[in-house]
Amino acid sequence: MPSQTQENYEAVIGLEIHVQLKTHSKVFAPVPYLYGGDATITDPSAITPNTLIDPVVLALPGALPVLNKAALEQSIRFGLLVGAQIPPMSNWDRKNYFYPDSPKNYQLSQKNHPITIGGEVEIELPGPSRNVMGEHKIIHLDHAHLEEDVGKLTHTGAGSLVDYNRAGAALLEIVTEPDLRSPDEAVALLNAIRILLVSADISDCDMEKGQMRCDANVSIRKRGQLTLNTRTEMKNLNSISGVKEAIQYELGRQIREVEAGREIHQETRGWNSTTGRTYSLRSKEDAHDYRYFPEPDLMPVVVSEADKARLAATLPERPYERQSRYMSQYALPYTVTSVFVPERPLCEYFEQATLAYPQNPLGVANLVANDLLGALAAAGKTLGECPIQPAQLAGLVKLTDEGTISKKQAKEVFEEMFSTQRDPVEIVGERGLRQSSDTSEIEKIVQDVLALPSSAKPIAEFKTGNEKALNSLKGPVMKASQGKANPKLLDEILRRLLA
Ligand code: ADP
Ligand code: MG
Repeated sequence: MPSQTQENYEAVIGLEIHVQLKTHSKVFAPVPYLYGGDATITDPSAITPNTLIDPVVLALPGALPVLNKAALEQSIRFGLLVGAQIPPMSNWDRKNYFYPDSPKNYQLSQKNHPITIGGEVEIELPGPSRNVMGEHKIIHLDHAHLEEDVGKLTHTGAGSLVDYNRAGAALLEIVTEPDLRSPDEAVALLNAIRILLVSADISDCDMEKGQMRCDANVSIRKRGQLTLNTRTEMKNLNSISGVKEAIQYELGRQIREVEAGREIHQETRGWNSTTGRTYSLRSKEDAHDYRYFPEPDLMPVVVSEADKARLAATLPERPYERQSRYMSQYALPYTVTSVFVPERPLCEYFEQATLAYPQNPLGVANLVANDLLGALAAAGKTLGECPIQPAQLAGLVKLTDEGTISKKQAKEVFEEMFSTQRDPVEIVGERGLRQSSDTSEIEKIVQDVLALPSSAKPIAEFKTGNEKALNSLKGPVMKASQGKANPKLLDEILRRLLA
């Protein structure tokens, strides 16, 4: 299709994002789930099928649901984080349907009175390059409601298998306004929500583990048009690339349909990542098809101002706000802040180190982002298992800044700190690594090096104005001093003797 044609249309996209909340047990039953105290449950799909169940999950006669307080609190924390309204009262509805992924023939959800209303999420669009910050934009939310997850079906040649381990897990559905204007914006929103929720410990949002899934609603309209056109909904997109490609394909398909004079029908479509196409699943069901009715076995949820205040106090700084603070307060470059910001523990590590040595935040940041993360990755360790304490790392930067050790020596000390958990000062003292700032000692070595026959050429080159030739002289001096010569002093002495 000529891109001219594409240019005439604008994409209109709204996402419905499902995230599994970080709670110890399921949303209406005291059954341990993903984040339970039992450390063996890190991946429910690896647990023997149909063992994370109880009479409530299966809706056996007489079993009654009880709301998990943690699931409610996580939802409220989400609402507070995005500046949503938390109505004083919300309640539960049964969404009725028959499908074997639910053992009860209905899903407990919130139709008319969700836990949060409105709110907004700041997104960052891809910049011109990885090193340059992209445009930031606000995406408005319609609401978020709490519901229960459903089980998993596995279709085999011999029949279909059901596993209700996931059934009843606490799921927050976050619904955006149709504010997104491109597949890139949809991806940016998912990323923004992920770092927001991970940083607040609301969800781990691991798409590979199914902790974050998304439905994409897509329509097109002529540029300048303000009303909305008929949309299609792509169900169960479970990877970032899936979301991007499915929306891209669907936009192209809708433009082709409209250009050919055909109408877009409201329907639910699936995404086939192998063919790279969306396909019609069913004509879109309407809310009334589900015969929603109020859940008789659960009380409405009442949220007080005091609850909100207490939960607000548990929220961390929002990631993009933290990022702009790091850039202004510590003068850190965008690249380093974008390494830190998605990882709150990394931010905390950096801040603790900087608190211990406030003189050089950039030096600390670079050491954390490059050497420390590199060493952790090579050792297969997480930051939680890091052998170097923030204050020790700060001590290393200080020793380097003060000229006690050279940059090269700092690398050596770093390695030893990482393998022995010892203090940099101790290591430097023990190894006699102190950088030499003894002028006469360095001068003596420089004179020896200048007298070498191999030095004649670089000396001549330097004298004709070739600055780089000086490096060929510094190398042998460093070597002769076993790396201890203070580089700044060495530079001064060399220039003085060659003048
Ligand atoms: P439903 O009642 O079917 O759940 P909603 O109106 O609540 O539909 O919207 C569901 C999602 O679809 C929201 O994310 C919303 O932003 C998005 N959406 C609604 N209308 C359109 C449209 N015309 N084009 C694209 N997205 C839309
Ligand atoms: Mg709706």
